[in-house]
Amino acid sequence: MESSEKLNFIEEIIEQSIAAGEPRVHTRFPPEPNGYLHIGHAKSICLNFGMARKYGGKCNLRFDDTNPVKEDVEYVDSIKEDIRWLGFEWAEEHYASDYFEQLYDWAVELIRKGLAYVDDQTQEEIRLGRGTVTQPGTNSPWRDRSVEENLKLFAEMREGKYKDGEKVLRAKIDMAHPNMLMRDPLMYRIIHAHHHRTGDRWCIYPMYDYAHGESDSIERITHSICTLEFDVHRPLYDWFIEQLGIFPSHQYEFARLNLTNTVMSKRKLLQLVKEGYVSGWDDPRMPTICGLRRRGYTPESIRMFAEKVGVAKRDNIIDLGLLEWCVREDLNKTALRRMAVLDPIKVVITNYPEGQVEQLECVNNPEDEAAGRRRVPFGRELYIERDDFMEEPPKKFFRLRPGGEVRLRYGYLIRCDEVVKDPASGEITELRCTYDPLSLGGGSSDGRKVKGIIHWVSAEHAVPAEVRLFDRLFAVESPDEVQTEGGSFLDNLNPDSLRTVRALCEPALADAAPGDKFQFERLGYFCADSDSKPGAPVFNRTVGLKDSWAKIAAK
Ligand code: ATP
Ligand code: MG
Repeated sequence: MESSEKLNFIEEIIEQSIAAGEPRVHTRFPPEPNGYLHIGHAKSICLNFGMARKYGGKCNLRFDDTNPVKEDVEYVDSIKEDIRWLGFEWAEEHYASDYFEQLYDWAVELIRKGLAYVDDQTQEEIRLGRGTVTQPGTNSPWRDRSVEENLKLFAEMREGKYKDGEKVLRAKIDMAHPNMLMRDPLMYRIIHAHHHRTGDRWCIYPMYDYAHGESDSIERITHSICTLEFDVHRPLYDWFIEQLGIFPSHQYEFARLNLTNTVMSKRKLLQLVKEGYVSGWDDPRMPTICGLRRRGYTPESIRMFAEKVGVAKRDNIIDLGLLEWCVREDLNKTALRRMAVLDPIKVVITNYPEGQVEQLECVNNPEDEAAGRRRVPFGRELYIERDDFMEEPPKKFFRLRPGGEVRLRYGYLIRCDEVVKDPASGEITELRCTYDPLSLGGGSSDGRKVKGIIHWVSAEHAVPAEVRLFDRLFAVESPDEVQTEGGSFLDNLNPDSLRTVRALCEPALADAAPGDKFQFERLGYFCADSDSKPGAPVFNRTVGLKDSWAKIAAK
């Protein structure tokens, strides 16, 4: 983990170029609009926008929409929404498809210079001709076409004279180059498909390697930050820019974010959605930004996470616990405290006057005096958490037991006098207790001390709610690693990642609006779901209170 005072290596690079007399910092975030953004993208967004912000520069949003088959406006809209929600605003909004004409002209220029040619080989022939890491490739029989012929064929490709796959445009570099990507890489392929922005205007589409650096150059991007697997693409990135003599953008690579118990490939996330393993891109178990938002994550917590993860040069896997630690940190400061019982068991206080109701004063957030106080009704019949009572408790059990005492949060001490059971099932149905009327707010009638404190709700006033309890979507740390032959990452799904319970809540939770965040005392942080209706709230558990990560995060 990088400490915040130390410069990360991208900052070092930027500060070096500033020192060398290039004060301008212009980055870009270049998503392909073929899916929703996930936490890995958030890392990239925080880095690109963060660098621009820190050095008084700019960050563009560029949609890398060069593959018409998988892309859609739905994704464009969600991407913009998610970036803004994370707290960033782009300087300029661009689409690689806006550069198609310029890219085409540059391709023609490369043909004229004898640096690109039309190849008639099939995809398979091209693949075989490329050789291997240890063997050089072989030249295509079409490699030495004349400039005139190439110009004519390329124009015909654009005009739609050929079918998909019939011809491609390749850069003419070196079929024996040690870097396989430099062995006459593809620049254009034919795809007769409708594009979400350019419609049917084009039937040839530029490849990533050709379009990306050129787009950076058009926008005069100074630092083109991408993930590590693109380092082998860098020579090609530089080659196109150099041959065309255009603005020299530079590419820098950092390690992509990997998280335990999570898949991050958009293809896999799409599969989870399409095949119904989750309820949608915004299912609260998804690592997507919209899923995390619905789960109850805050922009602050995600930015804090990106900061803590730092900018690594080598691939690693971050424990999901760190993300959870970050949201706990943030919500602890801001979330209002409420009481809710997830697995209720009834308590009757036999010496409390029938029909009496008291309004007990409760603190909304002990971390924030400004959050104020509220009144919570208290009466003769209450609910407490089933596991806050044990008939035969072990030694260090400080909650309720037969004959034992416990404090009700913000309320009285109660003693359990009698355990009522269903004669047929033996299940406990009710605890009959007595209270100490002189114990409200901390003390007791005779100064005795009681260790345990438990939460409760008044039975008469309790508001029923649906509560969704989540566990990791995948049961194993590295779900991409498939154990059995012919298996799939889906085999690693956790069958118990969602459990729904009927909870009972204090009245203040009745009208929680979607997105409202709370700490349910002693249980965790919860966020009202978009399925909530007035009087019938639905809550997602964002994260439990237990902090198994603190040790590691403190390092
Ligand atoms: P996928 O392969 O799942 O489709 P991608 O990397 O192709 O993902 P893009 O939309 O091309 O997705 O990504 C946009 C930007 O986000 C790129 O600059 C990419 O490097 C960055 N990015 C994507 N995934 C991660 C990740 N896990 N960690 C850090 N940055 C990421
Ligand atoms: Mg991509």
